Amino acid sequence: MAHITIQDEMEKLRCSSSHTKTRSPSPKKTEKYIIQKLSKEFELTNDTIGDGSFARVKIVQRKEQGTLVRYAAKFLNREEGELERLYVDRALEEFKVARSLHHPNIVEVLSLCKHKLRLAFVMEYCQHGDLLDLMERRTLCHGGKKCLFKQMLRGVVYMHSHGIAHHDIKPENMVLANDNVLKIIDFGLSEVFAELFPPNSKGERELGRVREFPARLCGTAAYLPPEVFEAKYYYDARALDVWSCAITAFALFVGKLPWGLADDEDERYQAFQGSWQYLLEEYPDIPVTVDNFPLTVFAEVLPEKELVTLLLRMLHPFPEMRMTIFDALEDPWVQAIECCSPESNHLSAVQGDKAGDCGIPKMHDHCPSKDKLVPKSD
Ligand SMILES: [Zn+2]
Repeated sequence: MAHITIQDEMEKLRCSSSHTKTRSPSPKKTEKYIIQKLSKEFELTNDTIGDGSFARVKIVQRKEQGTLVRYAAKFLNREEGELERLYVDRALEEFKVARSLHHPNIVEVLSLCKHKLRLAFVMEYCQHGDLLDLMERRTLCHGGKKCLFKQMLRGVVYMHSHGIAHHDIKPENMVLANDNVLKIIDFGLSEVFAELFPPNSKGERELGRVREFPARLCGTAAYLPPEVFEAKYYYDARALDVWSCAITAFALFVGKLPWGLADDEDERYQAFQGSWQYLLEEYPDIPVTVDNFPLTVFAEVLPEKELVTLLLRMLHPFPEMRMTIFDALEDPWVQAIECCSPESNHLSAVQGDKAGDCGIPKMHDHCPSKDKLVPKSD
């Protein structure tokens, strides 16, 4: 059986004039991965758990120590007219990002496989569905929402500290695992912003220097910050993630989105932006606190004033003045949130990572009733 490696593909792509992306890994740093036939390791089932224009997600399974273990296989759809080498490149790029991340709040991707003419990521299966689904069931208590918010921040902090911005944070891109742990999924739009700056001797990446990316509309528009709608503007993908986290949090706590689009034509966003403008003109040097913040609907609809000011600082209209994801997680109100999830894989591994057995007291029951957990069949 012929194996395709990332190195083979990268070599081909380096020779391809049509390949213009700037975020591909340097070939010499590339780890060697094998794309093998899905059927060699996994049995494909008829259960489909997601079907969209970009991918279809199906359940696959294999025997591990006598037990049948289920995984999710995300089959990437091929875009119309997309050359095979670009399709493979797209899959490899996403796979490379996903394989470099190991954190309780990020879905673990095992392998990239080929099935007939399509490529599929095999990843851990989170049977409780996505956050949007959970929100729509309206079963989450306030403490449970705070816990999930903190888990999302932890996952994004981990990504940013490893030089990667997600670029498409939204409730649909977070799933709930069996042990109440929220996991960020889908790295198809992620940006590797720190590859030019390798880690120092302590393994830390320098994040002071910002690499900017040409604006391009991607992700779900309601979760995107105003700077991406401004023509010819270059933006920092990390500040974009912070904004998207705040919009996700607003939707989680309030049950609806604050506006349709953060642009000049959206009345609700204009009112929000006007409040910021007034504050910045009247009190340019006073930081946003619980006693000094833009007067928006946030104060009326959000349940805690600390949450109001936190989200407002994450939604600063000027990305360079926006709170970082690190500061958001360090916020005293966030720090005080009781969380079901371990802070790192290390803690999880030391204390056992099976459901309800990771040594972390389970504060909430995030898991919905079992009636909707049956995957729909093909
Ligand atoms: Zn919890």
